Amino acid sequence: MKKNIFGLDLKALSEALQPYRLPSYRTKQIAEWMYQKGASGFSEMTNLPKKLREDLDEAFEIQRAKLVTQWDSNDGKTSKFLLEFSDGVAVETVLMRQPYGNSVCISTQAGCAMGCAFCASTVHGVARSLTRGEMLAEVLYIEEYLKKDEQKVDTMVLMGSGEPMMNYDEVMAFLHLLHEPYCKNFSYRNVALSTSGVVPGIYRLIEEDLPITLSISLHAPNDAVRDRIMPVNKKWKIAEVVEAGRQYGEKTKRRVTYEYILIADVNDGEEHARELSHLLHGQLANVNLIPINPVTERQLYRPSQERIQRFLDILTRQHISATIRREMGTDIQAACGQLRNQYMKNNEG
Ligand code: SF4
Repeated sequence: MKKNIFGLDLKALSEALQPYRLPSYRTKQIAEWMYQKGASGFSEMTNLPKKLREDLDEAFEIQRAKLVTQWDSNDGKTSKFLLEFSDGVAVETVLMRQPYGNSVCISTQAGCAMGCAFCASTVHGVARSLTRGEMLAEVLYIEEYLKKDEQKVDTMVLMGSGEPMMNYDEVMAFLHLLHEPYCKNFSYRNVALSTSGVVPGIYRLIEEDLPITLSISLHAPNDAVRDRIMPVNKKWKIAEVVEAGRQYGEKTKRRVTYEYILIADVNDGEEHARELSHLLHGQLANVNLIPINPVTERQLYRPSQERIQRFLDILTRQHISATIRREMGTDIQAACGQLRNQYMKNNEG
């Protein structure tokens, strides 16, 4: 069986290529072909000797992601891609054309085990975690897609399906690889990592000392509500999560984003807004209010526009920085996991 070399960093690549006794510049050329020039086969690597290309082709392969389906929103701002890997597992990757540039939303696992009540990604549990190469393949797919319009990926959010902290080592290896000059030279400052509140993961990330934006899916102002909609809260209580967020902000001097999905009659009351303000008081934080995209599998509904505005007003009055997320791509089921679920349903049928 051929060994896949897509996703290896320079060190691992030179180890894999050791039998060929290549000078280091050759290894770098191969990495650049894979990560910068979009090569999916050795025959494309035209500055390599022909014999070497043939030898490499016999021993190795370059596994990238294959497009299964693409959906484009009516306003043309959001495109969603269902990408498949070599074992047939598929994940969603979303391109959002924002006023400040192109943002890509990456999945870190196929499905998710965290069980959040409002999320379609978790309906079928988790199939498996993605490797560093597969996450990179998601980004590079979008990068090459944008190339035809002479555009590129400007920012990246790790907010697709999966809990990045449950795939910590591969996620970090992926971010390091993406940052390498022989790969995309992608700045950590343009990365946001989202967690459902896996506290030990947040402390590990603090130790990395990287200027990554941390985003915490809070979605509730107290343990009673959070227990109801996020099973992760049974393990790490809301006070522990917010304390870890506070330390992250202090250490990195970067504002932590608290995601808060507004669900009618669950967490959208005035008392909830006041409790949330109290919880985050004095912290370097921003609250991102997200009116829920109704999930058909669960009976969770969107609050009225007045209630959403009222929630925001209370936070603002309490000096908590907060915004309502602009809706993108609801017409193409942009809520995480909905597209993949549809695909699984079709394949089952
Ligand atoms: S919201 Fe995130 S952590 Fe929760 S189930 Fe969905 S993908 Fe997993």
